[in-house]
Amino acid sequence: MDKKELSKIFEKYLEENWRDASCSLDYVSPFQLICATALSAQCTDKRVNEITPELFKRYPDAFALASAKYEDVSEIIKSAGMYKVKAKNLISMANDLVGKHGGDVPEDMDALTALAGVGRKTANVVRGNIWHRAGVVVDTHVKRITNRLGLVDSEDPVKIEHELEQLIDGENHCIWGHRCIRFGREICTAKNPKCGICGVRNVCRYYASL
Ligand code: SF4
Repeated sequence: MDKKELSKIFEKYLEENWRDASCSLDYVSPFQLICATALSAQCTDKRVNEITPELFKRYPDAFALASAKYEDVSEIIKSAGMYKVKAKNLISMANDLVGKHGGDVPEDMDALTALAGVGRKTANVVRGNIWHRAGVVVDTHVKRITNRLGLVDSEDPVKIEHELEQLIDGENHCIWGHRCIRFGREICTAKNPKCGICGVRNVCRYYASL
């Protein structure tokens, strides 16, 4: 079976089982989403959602965060993990948003990834959820699942992103990512994947190797 065919089967399975999947980070603006996504690195979305109400109350926009004190931001986000670097990056990012983009979050990929602490994953989350732009979000779940299935053969997130973009229609990139992450949390878990109840085991390379 070629990768395109495998991808179609997987996409259909995701759609049938996680049709209503959506972004699990709480946000009401591009600024809030970029902050929440940056905070979610090596931290659960649940924990981020516990932190951000206070963060956004104190700093509702890029202008407020740009003039924040490092110690105050650190204190608010300290349960997010890597909080020292995250606090530094959040303030630096806000300064760039104010200085280069009038306080707004830019839509352009290069402009986004030039911001402190913003990589392609965060940029694709923001572009996909806010502006419905194409771009596959490659997080730890997507990386693990697509390698297990045999859709990709790489540990490099950028290579995986570009390979998946050849297999999935651009208009579906964002929802595919949300559904795939749900599948990774519920079925194709990092440890002890639930292959026995997985609907794509018959086409899975990992399952065939067991
Ligand atoms: S069969 Fe197992 S390893 Fe393969 S996709 Fe399903 S849960 Fe993951």
